[in-house]
Amino acid sequence: MIERLGAITALDAPSGDAEALAAPAALLVSWLEELGARVSVAATTAGPLIDAELGAGAGRPGAAGVESPALILCHYDTVWPTGTASARPFAVREGIATGPGVLDMRGGILACLGAVAALDELGVARAPVRMLLTPDEETGSEASRGAIAAAAGDAALALVPEPALPGGGLKTSRKGWLLVRLTARGVAAHAGLEPERGASAVDELLAALAAVEALRDPERGTTVNVGLLRAPNPANVVADLAEATVDVRVADGEAEERVRTALAALRGRDPRAALEVEELHSRPPLVRTEASAAAAARARRLARSLGLGELGEGHAGGVSDANLAALGGAPVLDGLGPVGGGAHAEDEWVDLDSLVERTALIALLLTTDVEKE
Ligand SMILES: [Zn+2]
Repeated sequence: MIERLGAITALDAPSGDAEALAAPAALLVSWLEELGARVSVAATTAGPLIDAELGAGAGRPGAAGVESPALILCHYDTVWPTGTASARPFAVREGIATGPGVLDMRGGILACLGAVAALDELGVARAPVRMLLTPDEETGSEASRGAIAAAAGDAALALVPEPALPGGGLKTSRKGWLLVRLTARGVAAHAGLEPERGASAVDELLAALAAVEALRDPERGTTVNVGLLRAPNPANVVADLAEATVDVRVADGEAEERVRTALAALRGRDPRAALEVEELHSRPPLVRTEASAAAAARARRLARSLGLGELGEGHAGGVSDANLAALGGAPVLDGLGPVGGGAHAEDEWVDLDSLVERTALIALLLTTDVEKE
């Protein structure tokens, strides 16, 4: 596994760069085929999307099958541009591996592949597994979201090997995310000679932003952050264009609905001006349901049986593809990847002991029936 972690980390995998992603995709496909998977690769605008059917495995002769199909949801892109793999090559020292993407989420991918390989080599009955490896998670999963939601709809359980919480805990809830652009269009005029002929796009935008900021409800987890303001006219011209990008985070579907309704109701004040609200990206909140709590409890029991101690569970502020898997309705366990640190940072590292532990845990999660417990 360490050798393979080194091999994949030696390849650059910048999100959405179809040309650069071809090499890591080909390597992953070869590993999946070695496991006996039926692999199809879709050429999306963001790069190759890998969809692997791993069937139900060999199983021990006479062993009862595990029927609940499991989805393993991975992304193989990293936040790092081409050239990073050679500038900051993979290294192992004292049980710690470093290099671009070792934690997010190459270690997690290796743990999942290792779990399936181990079970099949041992002839242990396991769930039918479908593994999806996407090329654009780090930039919003626009090209993959349909495939993710559809695959999650067919699964009884979705496993996502994003990095664990500090200390190894699973992530059973994540906030939802809305990234919107507000564009105000007005009428340009000379700010000194005849300002009354103008309708200021900046004034319209500021009023709209005040309304958007009023949606903040930190106690319920709704946060609003305004970034990237743009109004290109000089100050002596009544602006005919102004825009802002707004990042909204919500804890549950009700808050998401409230925000969407309010955004849809935004209107310009001056009849000569127009206000446009455009959704750039969104991911629904990953809510801890009864089913996902039960799946987490099962993972805790299995971790205990492996001697891994008490497996924690918690909330993550950021989004992942687990948010999209939640659309499918199956319970989602995220944060199943190994323990490490420095995701999206130059000092990214992964603990190799934990890589083995997570492999064992993922393997056990695939050997018992979700629905029969
Ligand atoms: Zn990730």
